Amino acid sequence: MSETIFTRIIRGDIPSHRVYEDEKVFAFLDIAPLAPGHTLVVPKEPAVTLDALSEESAAAIGRVLPRIARAVMAATGTRDYNVLQNNGVAAHQAVPHVHFHVIPKPDAGGGLGIGWPSGHLEAEDGKRLAGAVAAQLAKG
Ligand code: 5GP
Repeated sequence: MSETIFTRIIRGDIPSHRVYEDEKVFAFLDIAPLAPGHTLVVPKEPAVTLDALSEESAAAIGRVLPRIARAVMAATGTRDYNVLQNNGVAAHQAVPHVHFHVIPKPDAGGGLGIGWPSGHLEAEDGKRLAGAVAAQLAKG
């Protein structure tokens, strides 16, 4: 697969406003922010979607996400924020390289707008679906 713009940013071929880097993770400001401080946290491993990411890279991201969120909120004077992670074109993923958005939600407005057309979970459906997912997980 051809490399994505994020791989080129991580390598330094394309400039970015970097906020954090370690052996497995790179974080930088989004070029089209939904609010000031909108940050992308990206594994250096070029997996396309979260389900394809190695446990090592996932652990590295999980370890640092809270710290990056605290730093973004402190630097922007924001209390509330969303963490967004899109997988697949239909789910609004534009760049096919796993990334987590940290998006401040300023009191003054802006940030992520969310449509949340919630349904209702029937007991029978819940039992069946939870069983199906658990069975998949049991496979390893
Ligand atoms: P997605 O829709 O894939 O979850 O989000 C991709 C994000 O990457 C978008 O918010 C977009 O603004 C950001 N982005 C795309 N290209 C670049 C770039 O070249 N530099 C930076 N800093 N952000 C980018």
